[in-house]
This record gives sequence, C-alpha cells and structure tokens, in this order.
Amino acid sequence: MRVSVVGAGLGGLALAQGLRGTGVEAEVFERDPGIAARFQGYRLVLDPVGFQAVRDCLPTHWHPLLDEIVMPASAEQLVLDPRLNEIGRLGAGRTGIVVDRQVLRHLLLTGLTVHTDAALTGYQLSADGTVRARFARRDPAAADLYADADLLVGADGVGSAVRGVLSPRTTPTDTGVRFVIGRTPLTDEFAGLAKAYGSKITDGGVSLLLGAMRFRTPPRLAAERLAPEVTLPDLGDYVRWAMILPPDAPSGTSPDEASGDLSAPEAVLSRMDGWHPELRALIEQADPDNSTLLSIRVVRPGERWAPGPVTLLGDAIHATSPTGGNGANTALRDADLLRRRLIEVADGRRDQRDAVEDYERRMFAYGAEAVRSSLERLPAFAPGAKPA
Ligand SMILES: Cc1cc2nc3c(=O)[nH]c(=O)nc-3n(C[C@H](O)[C@H](O)[C@H](O)COP(=O)(O)OP(=O)(O)OC[C@H]3O[C@@H](n4cnc5c(N)ncnc54)[C@H](O)[C@@H]3O)c2cc1C
Repeated sequence: MRVSVVGAGLGGLALAQGLRGTGVEAEVFERDPGIAARFQGYRLVLDPVGFQAVRDCLPTHWHPLLDEIVMPASAEQLVLDPRLNEIGRLGAGRTGIVVDRQVLRHLLLTGLTVHTDAALTGYQLSADGTVRARFARRDPAAADLYADADLLVGADGVGSAVRGVLSPRTTPTDTGVRFVIGRTPLTDEFAGLAKAYGSKITDGGVSLLLGAMRFRTPPRLAAERLAPEVTLPDLGDYVRWAMILPPDAPSGTSPDEASGDLSAPEAVLSRMDGWHPELRALIEQADPDNSTLLSIRVVRPGERWAPGPVTLLGDAIHATSPTGGNGANTALRDADLLRRRLIEVADGRRDQRDAVEDYERRMFAYGAEAVRSSLERLPAFAPGAKPA
C-alpha cells in the first residue's frame, strides 16, 4: 500500500513516521523549498493524549530521546500587571509536557522520504481506485512532479490545497485576531522573570503570554548520546512570548503592515509603553528570525465527503485558535489513529474504504470539539473577539 502525505508539519510527519516499517510505504511532499526554510520554532504544550499519540508514532528505541527533549508543563499560571505585580492566578496549570516544535519536527523527519519544493496543485482519481497527485516546483529548472498512491492524505495546514478539491465548501474563517509570537534566549538577565514563566501579563487590553523552554539536555547533545542516527537542532533554552491583538488592533499590527514597517517585536513593543523594563528588554532581545505575526484562522469540519482514496488530517480539516492549545494535539491524534487503521489494511484486517471512513467519522467528532473549545477561550485572551 502506498500513501502520499501532503505537508511536512507535525501531523503529516507523525503519520509517515508511524507507518515506517509497517508494510505501508509513505512519502511526504512539502511546499517549502527546505525543511528549515521558515519560522517553525515555538514551544508547544502537548496534553497526555497528544503526547502518547506522537510517542506511539515513534520507534520505541527513540522514546528515551523523546523523554529527554521534553519538560513537564509548568503548573504556574500567574496573572501579572505590566509592572509584574501579581493580580491573580489562572488556576491549576495544564497537565502534559512542553516540547519545541522545531526539535520535535526534526525527530519526526528522521528516516523519512520527504520531497521539498513540492506544492500540491491538484489530484485526479484513477479508474483503478488510486489517486494521482500533481506538485509544482518553484525551481524553474524542475518539471512538475506526479505521485501515484492508494491514499492521498492532505496534512497541508489551514490553507489546505487538498481540502480545496475534496471539500471546497469547507473554508477557513478569519477571527480578526492577530497573534505575535517570538522567542528570546533565556539568559541570566531574565532569571528574575522566572516566576512569571507560564504566566499572563495583562493591562486589561492586550495580554503577553510567557512560557519558558528549558531543555534537560541540549537537543543536539541528547541525540548524539541517545540516538546518534538522529540530528537535532542546536538550540538553547529560551522564553517564548506571545501577544494576542484584538480585532480592533491599531495600524501597524496587521500582518501586511508588520511585514513592511514593523517587525513582530516592534509590533509588541508598541503596545508596551510603561511596562516593566525587564519585560520590554525580553522583547527587545528577541531572536529576529524566530518572531512572527500570524492571523488566527479556524477551519470547522462540517461537510462530510464520500470516503475514497483522499482524506485530510490536522489543521487542514480542523484548525483551532492557538488559545485552545490543542491544534497540534489533535493533529497528532489524527496521525496515530489513521496510521493504526492503515496498518489494519496492510495486515488484511480491514478494507481501505472502511478504514478511512472509520478514521474520518471519529476525527470529525473530536476535531469539531477541539475547534469549538479553542474558540470558547478566545475572548479571555482577546477582549472584543467574537466567536468566529
Ligand atoms: C502560535 C501558535 C502556538 C500554538 N501552540 C500550540 C500548543 O501549545 N499546543 C497545541 O496542541 N497546538 C498549538 N498550536 C497549533 C499547532 O501548531 C497546529 O495545530 C499544528 O502545527 C498543525 O499541524 P499540521 O501538521 O496539521 O499543519 P502544519 O503544521 O500547518 O503543517 C502543514 C504543512 O503543509 C505544508 N503545505 C501547505 N500547503 C501545501 C501544499 N499545497 N503542498 C505541499 N505542502 C503544503 C506547509 O508548508 C506545512 O509544512 C499553536 C499554533 C500557533 C500558530
């Protein structure tokens, strides 16, 4: 059985990784010209379901390495004012683990066949029940690429080209809310902020969210020691900061404007007049290559399509608001569920149509709930935001 996975995000890579050595051949096709071609580097909180899903997609001999590159999610959930005075608590912290997205992605990539500079532009169903996908290349010297498979999986994110063909009426909704996110190396200068990691700082209008990423062992070193066949990025500890800008955010904070005049840190600093100098310094010393401004768009799974040789996974079919902290968790859950069904097909225990239908039925139910709950939490972070 051959599977073409479109998109080398966490969901697509976890699926392909989870199929390695199972008798199902999986190849990944990624639009970016290279694996590290753009910002991928924020930390994620994985809940027990998402973490177990990714663990199950990895070979067991990499589990010690996985455990070494994650840390427990902080239980500290302070609410502070811009002068760093405590004004409340958000209740018990989420249980789970914290992982750097870029590091996890590199682990998931190991040993896979990934075609970069391959942007899906369409697909055709063949009379024999297989599917032929077409990919355009940016490189003018490269001809279009075609791939034939028994199953095409669109794991191509919120703007999914696969979804555009499979379910054209399922489209993203822009919440109007903007998310500025970045990271700053965790130096001694910011040690005093330690109590504030895992906290929300608010002036009643905008909120700055801080979260520390502290590696037990630097990821590259951990891989050298525990799984030399894996190469992980050379990353040190950092503070992830994020500011959510409500829909009425003033000029200079829309994605277009930010990419022109204002950098992501500048967009945040413009909202921090009078804030504690340590907070301002944290943003001023941000790593410019790993700070960005994003629009929060959601995709609600609604219309079902007739089960066949094409399906969707992750943000491509249920994109959540980051305020839910559940998008990656749900994408990883999809990957694990779909790979289990496909292994049953390869083992002759199910037919493919039944396996994919079962995956889609379950995924639609929990995916819709993930989007709903993420939107419910949006107004708490962005006053004035209406549920999309
Ligand atoms: C700021 C922020 C913080 C977040 N924090 C959390 C968190 O703490 N916990 C959590 O669970 N979730 C979190 N999320 C959500 C999470 O990051 C996403 O839900 C998750 O990464 C989705 O994975 P995916 O594989 O479905 O899609 P993506 O990661 O979006 O991957 C899609 C891939 O497809 C590629 N692609 C797109 N179009 C094409 C094409 N036509 N052809 C080929 N390739 C294509 C893209 O280049 C990309 O590599 C956060 C999101 C953001 C933005």
